Amino acid sequence: MSKKILIVGGVAGGASAAARLRRHSEDDQVIMFEKGPHVSFSNCCLPYHLSGIVESAENLVLMNPEKFLKMYKIDARVNNEVVSIDREQKEVRVKNVLTNGEYIETYDKLILSPGAKPIVPPIPGIENVNVFSIRNVVDIDKLNKFVKPMTSKNISVIGGGFIGVEVAENLKEAGFNVSLIEAMPQIMRPFDYDMVQILHKVLHDHGVNLIVGDKVSAFENNKVILESGKTIESDAVVMAIGVAPETDLAVAAGLELGATGAIKTDQNYRTTDKDIYAVGDAIEVYHALTKTQTKLSLAGPAQKQARGVADHINGKNVLNRGVVGSSVIQVFDYNGASTGLNESLIETLNLDLKYDTVKIIPGDKVGLMPKAESVHFKLLYEVPTGRVLGAQAIGKGNVDKRIDVIATAIKLGASVDDLRDLELCYAPPFGTAKDVVNYAGYVASNLLSGSFEQVHVSDVRKLVESDACIIDVREEVEYKQGHISGAINIPLSEMRERIGEIPTDEPLYVHCRSGQRSYNAVLALQHLGFKRLYNISSGFMGLSFHEYFNDQTTNRNIIVTDYNFK
Ligand code: FAD
Repeated sequence: MSKKILIVGGVAGGASAAARLRRHSEDDQVIMFEKGPHVSFSNCCLPYHLSGIVESAENLVLMNPEKFLKMYKIDARVNNEVVSIDREQKEVRVKNVLTNGEYIETYDKLILSPGAKPIVPPIPGIENVNVFSIRNVVDIDKLNKFVKPMTSKNISVIGGGFIGVEVAENLKEAGFNVSLIEAMPQIMRPFDYDMVQILHKVLHDHGVNLIVGDKVSAFENNKVILESGKTIESDAVVMAIGVAPETDLAVAAGLELGATGAIKTDQNYRTTDKDIYAVGDAIEVYHALTKTQTKLSLAGPAQKQARGVADHINGKNVLNRGVVGSSVIQVFDYNGASTGLNESLIETLNLDLKYDTVKIIPGDKVGLMPKAESVHFKLLYEVPTGRVLGAQAIGKGNVDKRIDVIATAIKLGASVDDLRDLELCYAPPFGTAKDVVNYAGYVASNLLSGSFEQVHVSDVRKLVESDACIIDVREEVEYKQGHISGAINIPLSEMRERIGEIPTDEPLYVHCRSGQRSYNAVLALQHLGFKRLYNISSGFMGLSFHEYFNDQTTNRNIIVTDYNFK
């Protein structure tokens, strides 16, 4: 028997559900309501309209109601807002937002995919500035049309999450003076503080006025006032401090919310009403690693959930096993990707988890190849099991491939030994014979088996301040170009002849450019009877990236004579 299925929301989740429903049945009636003027647009490409990468706002719209009808027999109704749900009668009330006329539509099954709305807090004086937020094509078109003719070029973006960073980058590329203001000490929470310093540097290098650890306290006429007292001229302000799930409709209908404030669903995305499903940014999801409910505002999960709902409505059990949260971003000439747990999430949630980390900077392809770049790669794994927990990768080249491998490994419950053994494809233009992921597995396996010990670049400042013995095993020419203040230079190539210069009565902290030569030095010294040896993971290059942004933007002591970013 044919079913009548209504969908609220016509973009990522809604449109995916509709298309999959049609693939299941030619007979079912599928009606998709969208309160805005467009269905199935690319939210993710919205920021790229500001720089002109996506030239016309119209190009952001991928499908229209006519195509939905002709190609998929789906009744997509734009400018139609679902204003209430009557669960008893199994019907919704719909308002045509252009005419204000209302009508009723009944359902057998109802799918909610209303998304999430930008949070715009009531900051004092907000009415004194031109404030924008970005959710859809109308918003981006409005912002673009406002800023392009501006004579002054000053724009502030508030919030350093994905949307804030992408908007800041694209406005900068369009020639504006962009301030990116983040209340927390760092942007982009999927990255740990040590890793995100690379992205801070990239934004700084490209002329974005990045301000972290400072909160907007008020707006005055075309000015953003920060808690520190700083004032930033801004003729337009983009609020990108986060999104809140659209739950009004669900709450009014008596559907239960979860602890996160998003709609609660079961493993098949059914709400507390068995005939109403919910997907996307509006729902909370189970995190497979933290074992807690969380919100995950990403397009991939929304579309997969929608597919799952369509399958479940058609008799197929989905039983999702939870998310691990994988994401990627481009920040000017760098790319950053992450998956699974990071250290700050483990701390914030106070997870009872013993873990260690590996930080390496291998090449993304053979160094002789054009466009070979370094990948800053951080792996988190459980101790002592070696279970892979998460990873972050940042570099100019292909970082997402590595993180995708780790995301897969996490989903399959792999350990660091599995990473070591993975057979990944190789030819010089694509990678190295032992891939970044293999290297991370090797280092983690070595650490787990106790073959050497390490400290991190985030520990180096304290080591310098306490006059610890730091040995730099790079060649003299490298040392002269920049080194850690107070470090002794004994190149690996001379180490065996100069062994008498190495102290035996104190801990030794050994580093090279990226951690590989110093690992060899540490092993050699261990074999020669030295004790209390620590490799400084990711070496001088890791330290340079780690220190640079804060060195440039605060008055602290600089602990290197110069930096090395290559
Ligand atoms: P949406 O796709 O937002 O769709 C919800 C729709 O429901 C809206 O159009 C809304 O108007 C409509 N609606 C709400 N209430 C009603 C109602 N009562 N009646 C009728 N219609 C209603 N994710 C990534 O994974 N990668 C990215 O690079 C990325 N970049 C992004 C960039 C930007 C600028 C934005 C805004 C988001 C980005 N996202 C990205 C997030 C991604 O777009 C969302 O996670 C995804 O679209 C969520 O799908 P959804 O169906 O839940 O909500």
